[in-house]
Amino acid sequence: MTDILILLEGSEDGLNPLSLRAVSAVRGLGGTVAGILVGGSPAALEAARSHVPDLVELIIPGNLVAEAVAPALAELMTLRGCRLLVAAATALSRDVLPRTAALAKASFLSNVRALDSVSEGTRAVLAGKGLVSVRALREVCIAIVEPSAFPVAEILDQQSTVARHEGHEAAGVLSVTRRTLRREGPSLTDAAVVIGVGRGIGVTTSLPEPVATLASLLGAAVGGTRATCDSGLFPGDLQIGQTGRIIAPECYLALGISGAVQHVAGIRGAKVIVALDKNELAPIFETADYGLVGTWETIVPRLVELLRSK
Ligand SMILES: Cc1cc2nc3c(=O)[nH]c(=O)nc-3n(C[C@H](O)[C@H](O)[C@H](O)COP(=O)(O)OP(=O)(O)OC[C@H]3O[C@@H](n4cnc5c(N)ncnc54)[C@H](O)[C@@H]3O)c2cc1C
Repeated sequence: MTDILILLEGSEDGLNPLSLRAVSAVRGLGGTVAGILVGGSPAALEAARSHVPDLVELIIPGNLVAEAVAPALAELMTLRGCRLLVAAATALSRDVLPRTAALAKASFLSNVRALDSVSEGTRAVLAGKGLVSVRALREVCIAIVEPSAFPVAEILDQQSTVARHEGHEAAGVLSVTRRTLRREGPSLTDAAVVIGVGRGIGVTTSLPEPVATLASLLGAAVGGTRATCDSGLFPGDLQIGQTGRIIAPECYLALGISGAVQHVAGIRGAKVIVALDKNELAPIFETADYGLVGTWETIVPRLVELLRSK
């Protein structure tokens, strides 16, 4: 019997740091807890073992696609008599877990900000503007938690033992080509500083030089609003917001972003928000801790100068 299972996403470099926030979401709930590691590597396995008391390494033959992962997770939930499966909101969990919920006949909760028990919690609605209390009516529940609402879990004293569970190759998927996109520099989900670029930047091909220099001086990851991703300035996986990445950096710097509710839904977890916009009435200033009113063309080069002089 395992009351709570946590989906942990691995890669060659280790564990997705967002998974460690899902671990925090269930600490304190009581009951037995185990992690399920998907996409494992030696580095991911090592990290996972030190964060959960019990660990299952899920082996999926072939490609790691939702059609293969979802039934394997549903099977594990039944085998373990699990009452709650939790994961951080990521592209993988959003793809896989609704299917798992259908297969496991589980209640499904998304955008969860707090868990009070294996079947009760608080979730965000209206793109994060409101909160509602929710209770799962089925015996088993699957919850996707907003990573920004939880801290990264601390390491446990003991390393867990590891069991292996073999899944099956995806049925009904004809052909999958997998390409791993490697980018230089910090990623949106683990950078301490993130620069968000909006339509106000006025370009659609490449980042203006002062903005790229500012990012490099701050060691910042760069992402965009849906407007800048749709325009082709950034690929879709660098979109920040309700339908993109939810981020929780120490500092978020918004450049030429109006502050639409769907964008703000992705940045509420930032510790400090600094907004730069030429329109002093832009809604982003309602969310920001610090505001700079002016054009990026004048202010960003001055910030670069200031940082260089330090
Ligand atoms: C269902 C749904 C889901 C969505 N999901 C997302 C999402 O996940 N993420 C997301 O970002 N959006 C999302 N959107 C889109 C969202 O509603 C907004 O349209 C989008 O965020 C606006 O992007 P923006 O701030 O870059 O552009 P704009 O709203 O056009 O704002 C541009 C800003 O730049 C300022 N500006 C202009 N020139 C300059 C200058 N020279 N210097 C400084 N400032 C300047 C302007 O004053 C303005 O405030 C979603 C919409 C829908 C309907």
